Formats: sequence, C-alpha cells, structure tokens
Amino acid sequence: MSFLDKVKQGLARTKQSLVRNIETIVIGYAEIDDEFLDDLEAVLLTGDLGVTATDYLMHEIRRGVTEGEIHHTKEVIPFIEKTLAARLETPPESDVRHRPEVILIVGVNGVGKTTSIGKLAHYYHSQGKKVLLAAGDTFRAAASEQLTIWAERVGVPIVKHGEGADPAAVVYDALESAVARDVDVVLIDTAGRLHTKVNLMNELEKISRVAKKIIPDAPHETWLVLDATTGQNAVSQAKLFGEIVPLTGVVLTKLDGTAKGGVVFSIKEELGVPVRWIGLGEGIDDLQVFRPEPFVQALFAEQHNTITESTKQRGIR
Ligand code: GDP
Ligand code: MG
Repeated sequence: MSFLDKVKQGLARTKQSLVRNIETIVIGYAEIDDEFLDDLEAVLLTGDLGVTATDYLMHEIRRGVTEGEIHHTKEVIPFIEKTLAARLETPPESDVRHRPEVILIVGVNGVGKTTSIGKLAHYYHSQGKKVLLAAGDTFRAAASEQLTIWAERVGVPIVKHGEGADPAAVVYDALESAVARDVDVVLIDTAGRLHTKVNLMNELEKISRVAKKIIPDAPHETWLVLDATTGQNAVSQAKLFGEIVPLTGVVLTKLDGTAKGGVVFSIKEELGVPVRWIGLGEGIDDLQVFRPEPFVQALFAEQHNTITESTKQRGIR
C-alpha cells in the first residue's frame, strides 16, 4: 500500500469528523457571510484543530475573502487545505547525523512508546542502520519483556536490567555497548509515570546526565509520544512534558483509531515542536515519517466524491 493510501485509510475517521463537516457547511451556504464563518469555526473546533490553529485559519480565510482570493464557499475547502499544509512544519529529515544517534523516547503510560520504538527500530534497521534498544522502563518487568519481543522481531540487540533497576544505569550500559559495537542508532525506552512531575523530571534528567558521560552531546533527540485518540488532552500532555524535558519532536500514535486526527494541527501551534512520525496501526510497518503535504492531501482527498455522497445522504440537492 502506498504512503498516501495508508494515510488515507488511517485517517478515515478524522476525515469523517473534520473534512465531511466542513463540506456540509460549504454545501449549506450559497455565500460567505458571518453565519457561514461562525459555523465553519465551530466545525474546526469540534474537529480537534484546537483554538490557536482555528483562530489562525479563520483569520486567513477572512483575509482571503477580503483580498479576493476566495469568492465562493466552494473555494473555501481548497483554501483550507493549502493553508493547513503550509502552516505545518516539515520536519527535518530523519537522517542519522551522529554515531551513535541517541534518541530518548518519553510520554505517559499507554501512549505507544514501546510499540513506536519497535517500529522505529524496524525503520532504521531496514535502512541498513545498526540499531540498539535500551530498556529504560524498569518500573515493570513486563515493559522490558515487551521491548525484548520487539528487539527479537526486528533482529536488533537490547540492553536491559532487572525490574526496579535504575534506568540511568541501563542507559549507561546501553551507550557503552553501542559505542563498542559501532551502533548507528540507540532508542531509549522510558517509564511514563506522571504521578509527580518532579520524579519524572529527575529521572529524565539523570538519564540525560548519565548518557553524557559516554556521549557528551546525547541525547540528540527527545521525542514525545502522544496518543491522538486523546485529542486536545494530548496537547495538554505535550505542554506538561515540554516543561519537564526539552523536546525535539513528537510521535503521534493511533491516528488509525480516532476521529481526533485534527490534533496534528494543534501540536505545532501549541507546542512549537514538529510532529516527526505518525502511527497508523499496531503493525511493524505502521509508522510513517510525517510529511505535511501528503498528509493534508490524504485528509482532503476525494472530496468531490464525498460531497456527492454526503449530499445524497442528507437529501440536499
Ligand atoms: P507505552 O506504555 O507508551 O509503551 O505504550 P505501548 O507501546 O505499550 O502501547 C500501548 C498500546 O497502544 C498497545 O496496545 C499498542 O499496540 C497500541 N498502539 C501503539 N501505537 C499504535 C498505533 O499507531 N495505532 C494503534 N491502533 N495502536 C497503537
Ligand atoms: Mg512501554
């Protein structure tokens, strides 16, 4: 399946909630007036675009109307598509620039950290990179067992200690081993216990500090994993984590199971950190490098068919 098809399929529910609702508004109004704009704004907000992205988009649409870029309601959808794609940041190429490149994966429990590490390991491994996993979630034995299964599936080494061990010690050993084995990419799993912000902050700080003993500029990347199904809560979580640890990117998981994919547009707005990867399923291949244009294209694709279908369904001529 092509990238576009996969994203299209994964985004089906978001498309339904966001794009179809925009289309319904567009069909319902003959001309662009205040009422049209108000309705449109409401739909964007319920589509999990977030306040900042919605405000920006509404401002641009009003500007487009005033400056004669938009004349008819039907021109609004292509305008939204173009504006959203341009507003999203194209993340830097996920090239490996250091050897080893040390990537710290953070996020609360259950968002998909371990699974994403498995998929990332597969991605880098299939590009011919030497990958090593560090089982830094030592809180439960099950966590490192889960990561071990991924390591075996992908065929990459893993460094782990027993349950309750110091995560920083795991990271120390992992980096030492990575240097000795001439590894290209080290992916560090962490525990996501957010019971106290201070604890987590201390733990992540210690991991970074200890990592620097072996590789002075590590970690090179710190990616926050967010669960798209939590919608705007993911944005709040991102803000909280941004205060705990300096983030360089977001991995947005579970886009396949949610109507709240519009959250993609609010992460950059609210957090200032680009979405780097998107998770579109539980399989090993279900992680994609995030590219704004194809993403927005996939979201808005086949809009004409959809208009006709939803028009028929709603009995609108
Ligand atoms: P962690 O606690 O952050 O390490 O989360 P896990 O990696 O254990 O994942 C929690 C659950 O989310 C598991 O059942 C995963 O299979 C599932 N999951 C992770 N990423 C995705 C995704 O992109 N799509 C779907 N549908 N499920 C996912
Ligand atoms: Mg985990």
